Amino acid sequence: MAETPREQGHETLSNLLQETRRFPPPADLAAAANVKPGDLEAAADDRLAFWEEQARRLHWDRPWDSVLNWNPPFAEWFGGGRLNAAVNCVDRHVDAGRGDRVAFHWEGEPGDTRTITYAQLKDMVCQASNALLELGVAKGDRVAVYMPMIPETVVAMLACARIGAVHMVVFGGFSVEALGTRLDDSEAKVVITADGGYRRGKASGLKAAVDDAVRDRPAVEHVLVVRRTGQDVEWTEGRDVWWHDIVDRQSTDHSAEAHDAEHPLYIMYTSGTTAKPKGILHTTGGYLTQVSYTHWAVFDLKADTDVFWTAADIGWVTGHSYIVYGPLSNGATSVMYEGTPDTPHQGRFWEIVEKYKVTIAYMAPTAIRTFMKWGADIPARFDLSSLRVLGSVGEPINPEAYMWYRTNIGGDRTPVVDTWWQTETGAIMVSPLPGVSSGKPGAAMRPLPGVVVDVIDDEARSVPNGGGGYIVIREPWPAMLRGIWGDPERYKKTYWSRFEGLYFPGDGAKRDEDGDIWLLGRVDDVMLISGHNISTTEVESALVSHPKVAEAAVVGATDPVTGQAIVSFVILRGEAGEGGDGLVQELRTHVGESLGPIAKPRQILVVPELPKTRSGKIMRRLLRDVAENRTMGDVSTLTDSSVMDVIAAKLPDAK
Ligand code: ATP
Ligand code: MG
Repeated sequence: MAETPREQGHETLSNLLQETRRFPPPADLAAAANVKPGDLEAAADDRLAFWEEQARRLHWDRPWDSVLNWNPPFAEWFGGGRLNAAVNCVDRHVDAGRGDRVAFHWEGEPGDTRTITYAQLKDMVCQASNALLELGVAKGDRVAVYMPMIPETVVAMLACARIGAVHMVVFGGFSVEALGTRLDDSEAKVVITADGGYRRGKASGLKAAVDDAVRDRPAVEHVLVVRRTGQDVEWTEGRDVWWHDIVDRQSTDHSAEAHDAEHPLYIMYTSGTTAKPKGILHTTGGYLTQVSYTHWAVFDLKADTDVFWTAADIGWVTGHSYIVYGPLSNGATSVMYEGTPDTPHQGRFWEIVEKYKVTIAYMAPTAIRTFMKWGADIPARFDLSSLRVLGSVGEPINPEAYMWYRTNIGGDRTPVVDTWWQTETGAIMVSPLPGVSSGKPGAAMRPLPGVVVDVIDDEARSVPNGGGGYIVIREPWPAMLRGIWGDPERYKKTYWSRFEGLYFPGDGAKRDEDGDIWLLGRVDDVMLISGHNISTTEVESALVSHPKVAEAAVVGATDPVTGQAIVSFVILRGEAGEGGDGLVQELRTHVGESLGPIAKPRQILVVPELPKTRSGKIMRRLLRDVAENRTMGDVSTLTDSSVMDVIAAKLPDAK
């Protein structure tokens, strides 16, 4: 074995956390699993043949001439092939006699429900396609979608895909300003919105925000408005059109044209956790191939019997890939929920699982930690025995959050798949496979078949087992981003310049003694304490493993002695009380015992909330600003910017 990077004088990420719990797949699940251990070798032997085989899951109007054309860093997958994404997601299943299958069990926050079959979805998509054409939308035009979580949101996306327009979904909770900058950047011609939607028991005013955003943006020719809440809205004649006026009178016939495999499907802006959001471009054939395959493989989907639920917003890439394109391309039945998990009560998610007999649930660690904070007695009131696979996405899952999820939601029987990917990767890249992997709490485990991932040091050398460094992707993959909208230079610079010929996602990772991968947070968040690189994730996980802590955020703040010192912010579990000096000491000792004295936080502040993006990620850069007494950076993608004032007010006595 080669020398370790440290012996050569390079600093890699320290590997502090030890985790020995293992959860082999349940025998019955393993026996019937979609992916079995032997399948992995075939993919490794011939990666391109493997992806070609996966592409055959889809209906192609014209087969591809070449699997991959790689002109680094620009990829063309399935060149020469032609297909229609909407036909693959809808018509194909109806044509195969499955029109009566439920595509969505939709649940509105106030308790209203809709059941939408594939046949109904097809009619809705065709009508909406005809309506968009009537509004002058042409192939290649960009259409913004600023919607609540209602079925029309999916219909709008698929209608765009069907006619070859490029959808650009903006999270319905974003401000006028965030919507405006995305409209400018994408040069959208039409905005599809609703009068409002329900969140936390209140009707939000989406149309009013669109009015403000498009007032000085004449490039937007039409605003198409779904009536959801019935609230009063302002109306600009000629520009604004009601969905029910224009869509409902359209024919349910629309003959779909096949688009090139590389035709743009959508633009999605990243969540802005580390930097100004980037307009990530995804195209059709490769994207659909990989989301379809990963949805089937990672969740062990049985389309005939499973009820799948991604409890996330469509305005986040997770919603695009695993509410819309993955489940629909596989002909699955999904649940879609409009509102928040605490409306009208903190058991709402579990009530939904019980009601629809959800078998596979997929959500973010931030949600899981919130449920931990609320207490295990809440899910215990519901029948969750239908669940057979649980998924996590968005951040590293702390081992204790994994255990809580597996035990209290999964009845100590379901595998938990911790799926690592990004807006840019389009689809899951590193994840356990429920019928193959022996799950380890906190580990994303191995790259999926057909994906080539490595962990390397500063000098681009693979780290040995037990080492830490940067996760990179060595070979192009079908769902990879095709660029940053309108900015090829930023595309090269952000992802392809750090290491020659390798895709650099910007996340830290370690490879354990078995060769399994653990994600350790953003490279930007790594702390340098007395000459050691320490990941925020490991210190946070150590804090969360204390029985009184529900959630923790850790940052490195400049320190005269140690270079950087660890400052942590913790939210206590419901039953833990107020905290106080005794608890702070107890937590410092606990971290010291779990990870070693070097990881002991200099300060621990008990806070009521943490700054989070719309997809639930903790914005550590803002906490760093606070910890270092700086003016705060961009807060436009924060769910609630007032939390920062509350946190800042806590700091002076601690500094
Ligand atoms: P920006 O790039 O603008 O800062 P963002 O990176 O937060 O925004 P996303 O694409 O939504 O936007 O997030 C992808 C990131 O989320 C990954 O790079 C990684 O840091 C984190 N992530 C997602 N899933 C996991 C996971 N299972 N384990 C660890 N980290 C994860
Ligand atoms: Mg990112």
